[in-house]
Amino acid sequence: MGVCRSCGASSPLISRTIGVCLPCLRAGFDGLDDHLNEVHRKSRERFSLPGMPPRDQNGITCRLCANACRIAEGHTGYCGIRSVQGGKIAGGTAKANVEWYHDPLPANCVADWVCPGGTQ
Ligand SMILES: [Zn+2]
Repeated sequence: MGVCRSCGASSPLISRTIGVCLPCLRAGFDGLDDHLNEVHRKSRERFSLPGMPPRDQNGITCRLCANACRIAEGHTGYCGIRSVQGGKIAGGTAKANVEWYHDPLPANCVADWVCPGGTQ
């Protein structure tokens, strides 16, 4: 059972990871930005992904997506696929690199770490 840190509501539909109910999320992120950014950062950290698009002043700009990461030598972009190696962007293409897995849940619509079904 999750509890909304904004309004105090409790429901099995509130992810313990996110800790905010749907009506509060839909009402806007006033006062929740820092919390939600931290939740997002931590969820990406589990997969060794940058918490925010990198903005290294001396980095090379990746123009494959709207994040326009500025990636330092030896580091990866927000996607975790593009990196800078030897002063050049490497990895990934406009066609993307993908992987798949068999999901036994018939209607799993989001990544498991944000879904209450994956946190119970
Ligand atoms: Zn709420």
